Amino acid sequence: IAKEESNTQTIKTTCAYCGVGCGIEAEVDVENRVVSVKGDPEHPSNYGRLCSKGSALGETLGLSSRLLQPQVYGRPASWDDALSLVAEKFQAVIDEYGPEAVAFYGSGQLLTEDYYVANKLMKGFIGGSNIDTNSRLCMSSSVAGHKRAFGTDTVPACYDDFTEADLIVLVGSNTAWCHPVSFQRIRAAKEANPNLKVVVVDPRKTNTCDIADLHIPVKIGSDVALFNGLLSYLYQEDALDQAYIQAHTEGFEDAIQAAQTDAFNVYTVAEKCDLAPHVVETFFRWFKETDKTLTLYSQGVNQSSSGTDKVNSILNCHLATGRMGKPGTGPLSLTGQPNAMGGREVGGLANTLAAHMEFNPDDLDRVARFWNTESLTQAPGLPAVDLFDAVADGKIKAIWVMATNPVASMPNADKVRGAIENCDFVVVSDCVAHADTLDLAHVKLPAAGWSEKDGTVTNSERRISRQRALLPLAGDSKPDWWIITQLAHRMGFKDSFPYETNADIFREHAQLSGFENSENERLRDFNISKFSDISQAEYDALMPVQWPVTQDTPNGVDRFFANGGFYTPNRKAKLVAVESRKPENLPNKDWPLVLNSGRVRDQWHSMTRTALASRLNQHKPEPFVEITPADAEKYRLQNGHLAIIKSQWGEMLARVEVTDRLPQGDLFVPMHWTSQFSNHGRMGVVVNPVVDPISFQPESKHTPVSIAPFEAA
Ligand code: SF4
Repeated sequence: IAKEESNTQTIKTTCAYCGVGCGIEAEVDVENRVVSVKGDPEHPSNYGRLCSKGSALGETLGLSSRLLQPQVYGRPASWDDALSLVAEKFQAVIDEYGPEAVAFYGSGQLLTEDYYVANKLMKGFIGGSNIDTNSRLCMSSSVAGHKRAFGTDTVPACYDDFTEADLIVLVGSNTAWCHPVSFQRIRAAKEANPNLKVVVVDPRKTNTCDIADLHIPVKIGSDVALFNGLLSYLYQEDALDQAYIQAHTEGFEDAIQAAQTDAFNVYTVAEKCDLAPHVVETFFRWFKETDKTLTLYSQGVNQSSSGTDKVNSILNCHLATGRMGKPGTGPLSLTGQPNAMGGREVGGLANTLAAHMEFNPDDLDRVARFWNTESLTQAPGLPAVDLFDAVADGKIKAIWVMATNPVASMPNADKVRGAIENCDFVVVSDCVAHADTLDLAHVKLPAAGWSEKDGTVTNSERRISRQRALLPLAGDSKPDWWIITQLAHRMGFKDSFPYETNADIFREHAQLSGFENSENERLRDFNISKFSDISQAEYDALMPVQWPVTQDTPNGVDRFFANGGFYTPNRKAKLVAVESRKPENLPNKDWPLVLNSGRVRDQWHSMTRTALASRLNQHKPEPFVEITPADAEKYRLQNGHLAIIKSQWGEMLARVEVTDRLPQGDLFVPMHWTSQFSNHGRMGVVVNPVVDPISFQPESKHTPVSIAPFEAA
């Protein structure tokens, strides 16, 4: 893994940022704390490619922006004092109000080992369920859609399908900016395969459209009508795979009836989605004619009050055409963060248990026996929006936020700020010295940064990769798993948290994934029991591999469900009857425009790390709002001037960018700026806190707003 070369070592690791999960080769000069990075040519997720963010990682590792010592009420403290206080305060709240009065809020930046220990402590030993994660804002609709259709949260396709497909449909995904290396691979696949067509379904004409053969500027929120229309069309054209439907699915009749009621033909779809009929017809015909169709979808699908239904409307089309798990076919959800998938594996969401187990009597019994605990919580906890509402209401009195910044990133962010400000006891563990949430904490705990973290992450295609430490821990910082383990010891659970290394935790996670698994087909996909006895040396040398990893599948599995075998009681997938519905809050005379939100190419989340690389700040140096020329004229806005955007929940300032890349009536703003970088450019304060009723994922893509020129007082 590492070789000495003069004063430097070469170490293979995984990128800190998005869910593509690119492998990195880092040249490390430990003495001078200098790291230069390039893409790992052997890593199957990127084959040597990196994007602008990944290639600048070496420029973000300085110590000046780091939290280097624990702080208690603003004063430096020892780890022992800080953690003893956290244990004492949490225990006092639990003793007086019960375990549901404390909460953990995690992040897709945590390693799987960190997540495993946090979930085990909260659900298994504190006995509460209030542990949720910023991945709730990112992919929980995909999780819910997978479970409704497949019985489990199984991802059927993989990145190698980019080069196998003849039609790639990108839905609600600015892949060019948000998953850039996947975009590079699709572009290369298109150059190599003249038959490959790319369709982009997105209200905005993003940079992803540069490789599109067809852009479908669907109205925000109307995706279910588009895919219901596609299902109706395929049915009417006799283009469904009846053999697959009969053998491997149920619910077909109801799903077809709902689809036809919702979107009977091209013209109904065109009307509901604000599209030209010939655009709809072209998409439907291409889908019908192309067996090897791969559908990639992301936040434009997930971040919606009908996000789960949108996911199922896509899955229905693949199930009804048997386009599942064969090379070049299938649905593939693109996860936002580097370890959103790893969090799913170990119960990072409030409504799941470790090893993809659920809150049912069998799984609860199995987890309780494996952990040897009598305190295992028996019911799901609060998802993110509800969790912070409970903090605001005073029901949650102590919260520990790990590696994330909810005061900036949650919808209705000023309410979350107020909740954190008024909470009795707030702990934040993070690697940076300042962030909106961290700055409000009573106890600040310095966590290891990317270049010091050591463990595993899992990307969108289920590939487990090692993040390896490149540099010694900065200052007095510690790995997240160590910090949580130390809290567990101080709360009286030392024997159940005996971990001394990251490999100890990974081994236990692997053992749980295979614990009595042979009796439970439903959990077979998530089994990584091949690693149950993994040594530290083997763990350190672990090569990227897609789960499941068992004695039968020692090299992992790339695809699922080509021949059915779903994990519902009758082993059949469910075609879910869904009907389109409008977003929860609609524009009106006071809030006449729709605010869409998303990422920019060169920044990551709340910019605490990417802003440290000066070249990454050149691309988009300040918050901006995209608006059409017609709307700019209507609302008296000039390109390059400041505008004030208001909603029922808050207001923000942004620089006007007049563009024809989005439909009239829509605005687009980026999500990244926080009070640290632009106090008035915080998008989260404007976004409505509406959630999908099944996944509880917020509707971050659709908030009714007004806009006006900003006039300084
Ligand atoms: Fe990192 Fe994602 Fe860029 Fe790959 S595509 S280098 S994982 S940010």
